[in-house]
Amino acid sequence: MDNSIKLSLPHMGGKEQHWVNEAFKSNWVVPLGPNVDEFERLLGDYLGAPGRVVALSAGTAALHLGLVMLGVEAGDEVVCQSFTFSASANPILYQGAKPIFVGSEADTWNMDAGTLDACIADRVRITGKKPKAIIPVHLYGMPAKMDEILEVSRRWDIPVLEDAAEALGSMLDGRPCGTFGDYGALSFNGNKIITTSGGGALVCPSEEAAARVKFYATQARENRPYYYHEVIGYNYRMSNVCAGIGVGQMEVLQEHVERRRAIHGLYCRMLGDVNGVRVQQNPNPAFDSNFWLTTMEIDLSVGRTPDDVRVALAAQNIETRLLWRPMHMQPVFADAPYYSAGGIEERLFERGLCLPSGSILSDADIELTVEAIKRELV
Ligand SMILES: *Cc1c(COP(=O)(O)O)cnc(C)c1O
Repeated sequence: MDNSIKLSLPHMGGKEQHWVNEAFKSNWVVPLGPNVDEFERLLGDYLGAPGRVVALSAGTAALHLGLVMLGVEAGDEVVCQSFTFSASANPILYQGAKPIFVGSEADTWNMDAGTLDACIADRVRITGKKPKAIIPVHLYGMPAKMDEILEVSRRWDIPVLEDAAEALGSMLDGRPCGTFGDYGALSFNGNKIITTSGGGALVCPSEEAAARVKFYATQARENRPYYYHEVIGYNYRMSNVCAGIGVGQMEVLQEHVERRRAIHGLYCRMLGDVNGVRVQQNPNPAFDSNFWLTTMEIDLSVGRTPDDVRVALAAQNIETRLLWRPMHMQPVFADAPYYSAGGIEERLFERGLCLPSGSILSDADIELTVEAIKRELV
């Protein structure tokens, strides 16, 4: 590849190809097999959820099957964090259900529990029934305030589907993200913490639930000698070839998480004295983000917008990206109800920028990026 500095590239550890070759040698070139079993076992051990992780074709597929498992159907409402990537919300539409968007709180930039509570009360008042599920997101790897969100979930008796696509390796109170909700979705897309070239996984509440997810993910075929279907199925299982990459990546997962945290540390140190810049931080020691992407806010009074900085850095072959544009601001979700505590997510979208953060980057890459930012802002 070229010498440009990218946001988040795949980062191979070295053993991946061995497991891919194993798949070819044994002719397990299908969407199941020993690499899939091993990848699930390694993920289950890593997350402290043995026997409860199902490897799937994408994080989006994991979120979709999470909704299927929670019984979300046409006409139901599902509450989703507005400040996220569209893949958090699209599966709600796949089920014919209706997304209800909730805004963020200032510390973690994730779902505000107070707004969630008020939102649910309002939906019950308007529709006479409760939303079917709640989807909080650990955006950029920062854990959402799960204790507060789970308290609301318990009080209303509404299950949680955690979108941990960006948060593999992140911890809250010593517990891994992806294991707080009834279900938790992970992504192994090319730009995530680890990659299987494309893939995802669903963390389930029990081994029985995991078996049921595998059933749905393989066309919901009943156990009979002929093909027989009682419910709608999906073709969402992970390929054994891709899972081979995943098995290799698990060897370097923790190392790569530590590298992203170190990159965040470098940015904090080098940008700490730049006027009008604030690098996003863990709000307190209970939070331990993987810092999938280091993000910063720019005070607009410095006379530069995040997009000015993005364009200036792009001209120097440095890739940055504006923060996610909230879902309630997307044309495709224009009709969806939206609840917010003062529009924090809208302000973040105006002020924020994602910085090159891949574990493959060198300290020199980060220094070059910081110098370019300083030339733009100081
Ligand atoms: C990447 C991502 C997804 C989707 O994962 P895919 O594996 O790309 O389908 C879902 N939610 C968030 C927040 C993501 O960043």
